[in-house]
Amino acid sequence: VLLPNATPPNYRIDSCCSPIPGDDVLGFVSADEQVILHKADCPVAMKLKSSYGTRLVATRWEGKADNFIVTLDIDGIDRKKILEQITACISSEMELNIINMNFTTEPGVFHCTTTLQVDTTDTVAKLCKKLKKIKGVKFAKRTS
Ligand SMILES: [Zn+2]
Repeated sequence: VLLPNATPPNYRIDSCCSPIPGDDVLGFVSADEQVILHKADCPVAMKLKSSYGTRLVATRWEGKADNFIVTLDIDGIDRKKILEQITACISSEMELNIINMNFTTEPGVFHCTTTLQVDTTDTVAKLCKKLKKIKGVKFAKRTS
């Protein structure tokens, strides 16, 4: 059972794939008896799974925390105020913390990469759906 509310949490998230609640995860017991999480499809996890001596444990999330970090890519057609609307969607509508945002434009198109704090994959799915409803947004997807 993974308790994100415990201090410190009773698991560690590996930075290679940064799983969040809702992702399929694999838990590995490290030498110091800590559970380390990877996404089920993470290449590092695949390697650990096949290597000798690593213990795999069944895991499930319990409780809630909203401090999981995800990165989103948002692309589309550039127009006035689109950045403002994207930011408003994330912070005002969804009430998520933006940790980092990088917005670049080329003639006619924009590309935005943003790092956010979320609780679960459901929130990410809901946010992407909302972002895609903004006029001009063609693509909104979690990348890590
Ligand atoms: Zn991983």
